[in-house]
Amino acid sequence: MPKEAKFYHALFDGAVQCDLCHHFCRINDGHPGRCRIRTNHQGKLFTINYGRPASLGIDPVEKKPLHHFLPGTWTLSLGTFGCNFRCGNCQNWEISQRSGETVRLLFRSPESIVRDALDADCPSISCTYNEPTTFAEYALDIMNLARSAGLKNIWVSNGYMSGNCLDAVEPLLDAVNIDLKSMDELFYRRICDTFLQPVLDNLKRFALSNAHLEITTLLIPEHSDSPETLRHLAAFIAGELGPETPWHISVFVPEISWKMHDTPHTAAEALKRAYDIGKEAGLIYIYDAYTHEDTLCPQCGKIVIERHRYTTTRHDRAGSCPECGKSIIITS
Ligand code: SF4
Repeated sequence: MPKEAKFYHALFDGAVQCDLCHHFCRINDGHPGRCRIRTNHQGKLFTINYGRPASLGIDPVEKKPLHHFLPGTWTLSLGTFGCNFRCGNCQNWEISQRSGETVRLLFRSPESIVRDALDADCPSISCTYNEPTTFAEYALDIMNLARSAGLKNIWVSNGYMSGNCLDAVEPLLDAVNIDLKSMDELFYRRICDTFLQPVLDNLKRFALSNAHLEITTLLIPEHSDSPETLRHLAAFIAGELGPETPWHISVFVPEISWKMHDTPHTAAEALKRAYDIGKEAGLIYIYDAYTHEDTLCPQCGKIVIERHRYTTTRHDRAGSCPECGKSIIITS
């Protein structure tokens, strides 16, 4: 059942403005917004993905990816359908770029999601797979219940939510991974049909919040892997968010992308180059899925958290290096 949206206001002639993300769609009666998840019905805005997960599973928290938040634990993960971005590279396009009619959907109340997490002994719930902003009302109801039940709340997001949305989400959020896709405005315009600046502004706000923050950048050959842009991006993370902010460099797989089948795979050299650029910028924790999975002590180089794919072994002593005692950022 469609549910009235929380973040909108009425305009004139029955039109409304959605205030949930930075597109701030003006929507006439009978029409959907840009994400196709929110529809104006007789001057009221309704969301159609409340309580309708398209994906529900239990993942290692490392898969979000989060490497410094509850390492080695499982997280109940859910996503619905739809997105406010249109990224040609999207690897979850089968739910993010489809309307509700063409996706197999479940019915799950917020109460049942929290009960599932508790039954499965998951210490956290992740809003992931598609953009959580598009199902903010559902996510917020889950997050409130999860917080009362002693569970942690995680978002994996493109960072394009409005200030109003962030005001509501931030107090309930324990950890977030934000995609910083590029520092090139043209990339955001061309590949995602959006703008870069709101993402940068929100990242600065997350860095000042109580939520633990990690960043992911997908290296798409010829689109987001130029050394110059990566230098700019790494300098932004180190300078504006802090050098201890974990940075995940991930690999583009054209076969499963929405529209970029002719773009090549990310080469191993590109991963190495990005890692070196991050190090030169002063970033302390940089990860990729191949050669840099472990968390190393920035002081003595000892392995503090060891990872093989999604198997994690902690060697830290209460968040400190077992060798030299240096404190490592780990939320346990
Ligand atoms: S969530 Fe964003 S894209 Fe969707 S209707 Fe609202 S402002 Fe538009």
